[in-house]
Amino acid sequence: MMIRAGKRDEVLRSTSMWMCTSCYNCIVRCPRELPITHIMHGLAHYAQRLGLAPKEQPTAKFSQLFWKNLVKKGRVNELKLGLSLYFMNGFAEGVKTSLKMQNIGLNMLKTKRLNVMEVIGGHGCKDAKGLQAILNKAREIELAKAAKHGA
Ligand code: SF4
Repeated sequence: MMIRAGKRDEVLRSTSMWMCTSCYNCIVRCPRELPITHIMHGLAHYAQRLGLAPKEQPTAKFSQLFWKNLVKKGRVNELKLGLSLYFMNGFAEGVKTSLKMQNIGLNMLKTKRLNVMEVIGGHGCKDAKGLQAILNKAREIELAKAAKHGA
């Protein structure tokens, strides 16, 4: 409704789309069969590209850290992702959170839920260069689209 009311900036600065957990309930239940999940993701991505994504919103920060972590090697390094989450609000808070979570980390190591290989970089997908080529092409297409539509 806000989009239809022309409230572009309010929509793009909103935190709503960053709360979406991709549960797809809305798509399943929408009587008009609107692809709401995809709209949420599209809006989040668009807001991010325009630099309008809320900086302090925790799920927005998480999404950005997750994406950065994932695109490097095509697989998520859970250890690095966890640490970057702990330290996302500064060094002091990172140390405090790490100490608070140390027992969980140790138990995860003991039960092999945390891969020690991740400490030394982890493993990537088979064709990391191919993945980068795909992502670069997608960026190129997006920039061309944005230029065409004046975004
Ligand atoms: S917008 Fe849809 S997919 Fe996202 S959390 Fe809400 S119901 Fe789930």
